[in-house]
Amino acid sequence: MSTALTGRLAPSPTGAQHVGNARTYLVAWLSARAQGGAVKLRIEDIDSPRIKPGAAEQAITDLRWLGLDWDGEPVIQTTRLPHYEAALEVLRRNELVYPCTCTRSDISSAASAPHAGEEVTYPGTCSHRCVADAMKLLAEGKPFAWRFRVTESVPFTDLCAGEQHIDVKHAGGDFVVWKNTGTPAYQLAVVVDDAAMGITEVVRGDDLIPSTPRQLFLYRALGLSEPRFAHVPLVVGEDGRRLAKRHGDTRLAALRDAGVKPESLVGLLAWSCGWLARPEPITPRELLPRFRLESIPAKPFALTAELLRVIGYFA
Ligand code: GLU
Ligand code: ZN
Repeated sequence: MSTALTGRLAPSPTGAQHVGNARTYLVAWLSARAQGGAVKLRIEDIDSPRIKPGAAEQAITDLRWLGLDWDGEPVIQTTRLPHYEAALEVLRRNELVYPCTCTRSDISSAASAPHAGEEVTYPGTCSHRCVADAMKLLAEGKPFAWRFRVTESVPFTDLCAGEQHIDVKHAGGDFVVWKNTGTPAYQLAVVVDDAAMGITEVVRGDDLIPSTPRQLFLYRALGLSEPRFAHVPLVVGEDGRRLAKRHGDTRLAALRDAGVKPESLVGLLAWSCGWLARPEPITPRELLPRFRLESIPAKPFALTAELLRVIGYFA
């Protein structure tokens, strides 16, 4: 097995890490380590208005508490702006992006109404612009974003979710790589960073499946080699909805403060992934020989109050 494999943990300090995040981190860590690979840590803190003070340190505490480790120092996105700017410059030089002055409400009123659960597709209002038009907008003091010109989407094979055919042109359309606030968008930053960090395997929540074809556009446009992807089904509450406050306090810090042992939580998560017959305490390291990506159920894991009681958490 190649030792060049490198995985990553990429928490966003926009809030606390909860049991759902923990499950994804556990899978990402086990997958990399079980293949003899490296694990890198990246703090995704460019989404400035949503970043919570102390949340990055808290995420690191949570990951260590779970028993996960990583190689080298954490990579902090807010220290890497010049790299994102350089990537944007490549996209500009190749006319792969154009300046967009649309507001959110411009877009929703110009776009045809999306079907339930679908995102609004950018109607292409500004796609007649070329890169040089940005000079005029700058002179006029008009804020603008940079949008990537989407072409035909390429299908990709997800290690968990299988073949994915997502037509970005009709599901979202041209997407923002640089926000009108002057900061890089997630899609650009994550590609620049994963490439710079030598990431060859991306394991993350399946809510990010629609981001992947967009990121693949950027890998190709920037001449970077793409990693493999495994999108893990999310953790939901008893009602089948995405884990949230209404399901009680499932923050890792709350479990820790309540005296829950990390091995108990890891055991519950390992059982949910099909690596244990019963939820019983175990460490990530002890799980290495049991890890199999294929045994993770395709449907979301429903975290019930009953299961939390099993690990000694009475929220
Ligand atoms: N920072 C993102 C999150 O916490 C993950 C992004 C990624 O893995 O590409 O949901
Ligand atoms: Zn526009």
